[in-house]
Amino acid sequence: MSTVRVDGERLLQTFLEMVRIDSPSGDEAAFRAYLMERLTAEGLSGVIDAGGNLIVDLPAQHCAHDAILVFSGHMDVVPPCHNIQPIVQDVDGDRIITSDNTTVLGADDKAGLAPILETVFLCLQHQLPMPRLRLIFTTREETSLGGAKELSDESLQAQFAITLDHTGRQGVIINQAPTYIEFEITCRGKSVHAGIMPEQGVNAIVFASQVIEGLHLGRVDEQTTCNIGFLTGGKATNIVPDLATIRGELRGHNPQTLQAELAHIEQTLAEVSAIMPGTSYAFTHFTQFEGYHLDEQHPGVQNLLSAARKTGLEPQFIRTNGGSDNNVFVKRGLPGVVLSAGYMEPHSLKERVRLSEMTLCCQFLQNILETFAHEPF
Ligand SMILES: [Zn+2]
Repeated sequence: MSTVRVDGERLLQTFLEMVRIDSPSGDEAAFRAYLMERLTAEGLSGVIDAGGNLIVDLPAQHCAHDAILVFSGHMDVVPPCHNIQPIVQDVDGDRIITSDNTTVLGADDKAGLAPILETVFLCLQHQLPMPRLRLIFTTREETSLGGAKELSDESLQAQFAITLDHTGRQGVIINQAPTYIEFEITCRGKSVHAGIMPEQGVNAIVFASQVIEGLHLGRVDEQTTCNIGFLTGGKATNIVPDLATIRGELRGHNPQTLQAELAHIEQTLAEVSAIMPGTSYAFTHFTQFEGYHLDEQHPGVQNLLSAARKTGLEPQFIRTNGGSDNNVFVKRGLPGVVLSAGYMEPHSLKERVRLSEMTLCCQFLQNILETFAHEPF
């Protein structure tokens, strides 16, 4: 069965309407109301949960099984994102949508949400095959995956999740993402007047810099990265500082390596402190999200591969080094992958998307729904 033709103009209008509505992380209400209005107009109703997420359940059409598929994307956008003015340019028979260069475009993730919405509406209008479908539109993805973390167990009771939230061409399938650990090191010394009795002071900033020198930073190995993002401390040039704080992150795909790197930080602190009398420290870390690796043989992934081929796409598995709501889904027992939403240079003023990519995404989603309606997962 071939796909029903996607109305490119309507898709473009939906996308433009979406990006014109402000939706910074934590303030997604206006945008959520827009989604609600569009859904209501098509006879659908959604539920807003305690985390501000919007959840919509749709019954199956021409489907013999009872499994639930999830389509997901996030409603929030990174700054600067107030009063976004999209610009549409004709290029080589295609349309490229950019911002006016003073804000991001918000294609991350509205270039994912617009195709989801339009595909669902098309499937309803034409009574196309689809399994039971749940739409999960989350809040605060960009800051902390905050909305996803507050989803109820009930909302996550489904068999497979597809999150549209990655850069790149259609056909890219992200089935591997890292664990992400934030850490903070408090380095303590002793404050004294820097000019009168420096011998009696212990400089916490010097201590911190010696520690940093001992750490493994940058690309630690093929699967692991570590970064120091902040080094703060000091009160005045004439005071030997008694406090310096280091904040950083560690991310990687191998749990053993991550544990070893945390141990290395501990050990470095102990060693440096031992040769600098008068210093002390505290080291804390927090796993912001856990990584996943979904097997390529998973029936949901196999369905995706066949839907990609039906769409004429060349499927390609990719390991990302970023996180997404899918980290939360998998961790909480809902297997899933991330697909490309076609946007380029996300989180920059040059963020952009081609209409042809969003149209192709709609065709892919249509084939996904048809395949998942026919094949169990
Ligand atoms: Zn995103």
